[in-house]
Amino acid sequence: MTTIELVRGDITRESVDAIVNAANSSLLGGGGVDGAIHRRGGPAVLEDCRRLRAGHLGKGLPTGRAVATTAGDLDARWVIHTVGPVFSATEDRSALLASCYRESLRVAGELGARTVAFPAISTGVYGWPMDDGARIAVETARAADTTVEKVRFVLFDERAYEAFAAHLR
Ligand code: ADP
Repeated sequence: MTTIELVRGDITRESVDAIVNAANSSLLGGGGVDGAIHRRGGPAVLEDCRRLRAGHLGKGLPTGRAVATTAGDLDARWVIHTVGPVFSATEDRSALLASCYRESLRVAGELGARTVAFPAISTGVYGWPMDDGARIAVETARAADTTVEKVRFVLFDERAYEAFAAHLR
């Protein structure tokens, strides 16, 4: 059984086996949680990302997929980078958002990670409505067939925390 926890805070302060990053497909850093993870993780994270881009991810990481790197100076063993979909009012991209959570858990399981911290993927710059993003996150984590023992959603503000709490109840 996987336990799901909610905490309010900064994901870069978490002590877990794997921290999930809401990256962009370039894997070369960005704003929001991505910027914060690279800042605190230090150059080793970016070096690993560059190596992936020079190798099998030459075109970048596709939306909905996930890949692991070192966690550098973060208090974790791995960062799992996943690329959320940009919200669209005209196209239903929720399967891609669910895929981010599922693929990240699959990669975490392959690595042997037992505890994984997630941010609210796509709910920042990518514009996903918080309530719907929280529903997809919680439903996908609940339904996941995974060896990960603990999923911790780390929510940056009260609004995000309340949205996740409403779906966990
Ligand atoms: P995306 O491009 O996937 O929307 P963002 O980084 O813009 O990614 O935002 C995703 C979510 O992460 C937002 O809800 C934002 O408030 C939150 N966030 C930003 N910084 C942090 C952080 N340090 N820890 C946890 N969550 C964060």
